[in-house]
Parts: sequence; C-alpha cells; structure tokens
Amino acid sequence: MTLNSLKFDKEDLELLADYFYELFLPRFVGQPEGSLRAGTTIEFSRRMKHKVGLAMMFENKIRLSVNYFAENPQFLPYTIFHEMTHLWLYHCGFDPGHTRRFYKKMTEFEQTGYQIDPEVHVHSRLAAEGTYVYICGNCENRWHLREALDHSIYCAFCYKKEGIEHYATLKDTLFNLRDGTSEKCA
Ligand SMILES: [Zn+2]
Ligand SMILES: [Zn+2]
Repeated sequence: MTLNSLKFDKEDLELLADYFYELFLPRFVGQPEGSLRAGTTIEFSRRMKHKVGLAMMFENKIRLSVNYFAENPQFLPYTIFHEMTHLWLYHCGFDPGHTRRFYKKMTEFEQTGYQIDPEVHVHSRLAAEGTYVYICGNCENRWHLREALDHSIYCAFCYKKEGIEHYATLKDTLFNLRDGTSEKCA
C-alpha cells in the first residue's frame, strides 16, 4: 500500500501530519545548531491556493493546503520536513529563509526514504543569509534582512495583539556572535 493509492480527508491528513512531525522531530532537536522549540502546531487550510505549505515563525505554526495534500498525500512528508526546517532555523537564531543552511538540512530528508515533491523543488532558489537582524524588544520576533532599513519597522504581531507599536531594533551582531562569521552565500 502506498500513500498515493488512498484518498484522505482533512482529519486523516491531520493525523498523518502529526505522525510525520513526530517521526522527523529527533532530527530537529539537540542538533549542533540547536533545537526546534516545543509547541509547534500544524493546521490544514482550504484557503491556500498558491502555496502548498507555509511556516509561520512568529506563531510557531505550520499551515498546509488541504486541497493539495488530499490529492498528493505522498508529498506530505516532504513539505512537513521543509516547513520544520524553516521553523528550526528560526528557533536556532538563523535566517529562516531558503539559505545554504536550509538546503543543507533538507539533504537529510533524502535519508528518510520519502518522496521529494518535484513541484516544490523546481522553485528552489538559494538566498543569502540576512545579516541585518531586527528584533522586537517586546516579543523578540526577528527579521533577517539583507540590507539595513532606512526607516523604522514596528512589530505587526504585537500591534495585532496589544494595539501598541513596538519598534524593532537592529541587532546585526546576533548572527556574527553565533558562529563567528558574517559569511554571505553566493
Ligand atoms: Zn520554503
Ligand atoms: Zn513584537
């Protein structure tokens, strides 16, 4: 029996997503870079049209497309691993984007034996790590940018919750402190 011979509804997908999350978790805990923070939630959305999955760093949440995975459950493990990698990098203090570090971690997915989603892989593009790191002094949300801002940004996450504009401040040494370099990827 293979995953793509079955038809899954939202509840089945939720169970399956939890299963793969637990299965992959040891690869994201106690690593040299650090650990994925506990409490990640996974939700399936019917409104996702253009993306199959989304990592929401500030919410520690993974959002997945019901429609896509009902049709393509065989690719669910790949996207869970992909979104866990985004969250893990963020939790470890790194730029959570599609950086060299991101793709290095994704090579571990091949060891799981599950299928790589070719639709997602086609769009893979290497991004340089953002070395300008802004932090909200209130909630510690971070933005990793490749250029310094010439204007202030406030944390929309805090504003939504508290109605107060908490401005983000530049902490561009954070990345340097972590591994002693400020390397940029080609
Ligand atoms: Zn991604
Ligand atoms: Zn904030």
